[in-house]
Amino acid sequence: MNEIANELFYQPKHGYDRIDTQEVAEMNEYAAGYKTYLNDARTERECVKLSVQMAEEAGFVPYEPGMTMQPGTKIYHNVRGKSLILAVMGEKPLSEGCVIAGAHVDAPRLDLKPMPLMETDELSYFRTHYYGGIRKYQWVATPLELHGVVILKNGETVDVAIGRDPEDPQLIITDLLPHLSADQNKKALNEAHTGEGMKVFVGSVPYACEGRDRVKLAVMSILNSRYGITEEDFLSAELEVVPAMEVRDIGLDRSMIGGYGHDDRSCAYAELMAILELDVPARTAVCILADKEETGSDGVTGMQSSAFDHFMEDLCAEQNVPLRRCYEKSFCLSADVCNGYDPLYPEVSEKTNNGKMNYGVAICKYTGSRGKSGTSDASAETVAYVRKAFGEYGVVWQMAELGKVDQGGGGTIAKYMANRNIETIDAGVPVLSMHAPYELVSKFDCYMTYKAVAALYNTEG
Ligand code: MN
Ligand code: MN
Repeated sequence: MNEIANELFYQPKHGYDRIDTQEVAEMNEYAAGYKTYLNDARTERECVKLSVQMAEEAGFVPYEPGMTMQPGTKIYHNVRGKSLILAVMGEKPLSEGCVIAGAHVDAPRLDLKPMPLMETDELSYFRTHYYGGIRKYQWVATPLELHGVVILKNGETVDVAIGRDPEDPQLIITDLLPHLSADQNKKALNEAHTGEGMKVFVGSVPYACEGRDRVKLAVMSILNSRYGITEEDFLSAELEVVPAMEVRDIGLDRSMIGGYGHDDRSCAYAELMAILELDVPARTAVCILADKEETGSDGVTGMQSSAFDHFMEDLCAEQNVPLRRCYEKSFCLSADVCNGYDPLYPEVSEKTNNGKMNYGVAICKYTGSRGKSGTSDASAETVAYVRKAFGEYGVVWQMAELGKVDQGGGGTIAKYMANRNIETIDAGVPVLSMHAPYELVSKFDCYMTYKAVAALYNTEG
């Protein structure tokens, strides 16, 4: 390249050409922590539980209305066990706004139906209803676990986790053998497996008695002896079938992490680590781990819920600041994953504008589909703000778009934050095989997403 081209052209460099050995070591340490988190927390409830535990160890306390607050006070608000808001009070008053990072901790999965247990031809199954966008063919013939809660008639909560412990059995949805799949093979990929067909195998041994549904009865009796539940208790339960694969390094160079739920726990963990390490920020730092993003952010624990506004309103009330004054001065990083450019499927991406593995945290100015439908589309000023902050803190970042125009699309919590009159932009980790039972991210991009959130928390504003 000649000098003038060097000066005028934007030439992104590979992430590994931009960090030294010291930072590689820090990256690997960070990745090790993330792997443990991802492996241990398989549902939104488990993410909230583990995050609360980590927050308490870092000195965070549950927010109580009327409690004494000062710069550096660390609080959290557990939203019904499925969503979590953490905050570290800043030096500046809330009338100066706060720095918010929002990720989600729910992930695509198979939920058990209210009446799940059935028997057919002396095999027993759970009926499921999938949650979020899944490609059904990816969820068959792969080991699964069952996690969740059952609330008994007397109000007692029973935590269920089957398959995580190495001694535990696991579950599976069977698929056809190639020898007999002539008809299935001719179907479109999205029609080869049906929603109702996603039945999870749970048992085959009949109960030693007379009568019908003896296998189902035997399974029910196993659940009853382990958890004290009866079939009616399924009606007040949230039981999630999730992939069982271990989180592992992927690639001979160990550059990637394979696991279930990188979308969006890779960003949730980045935010969490960044806020747990804060001392006294200039502006109040807020970290959101939201639920229900994969189904449109509706519901009491989703980002469209007033739970967030009420929490923020409480904080503002302590300082006699109207909530809207705080919001209009606030900034939100909607930390969510995007698709990484996949050379095996180049046809869906426009390479120049697509996120690339190992090129750092990917800023999505807009998401949406078709003509940018359903996106908040961050302003040039907002992009400039993060560009400056990332530059000052040595964050390796890239600009990204979700695939080719008219190829599909998607959304995040960004628009729900922006609709609150909070300046918002999307940024996060590029993912390969997104929404599959086993997704892939690069350690480098995960680490840079953490650095990105830390940079914003530490920026004066
Ligand atoms: Mn997401
Ligand atoms: Mn998603």
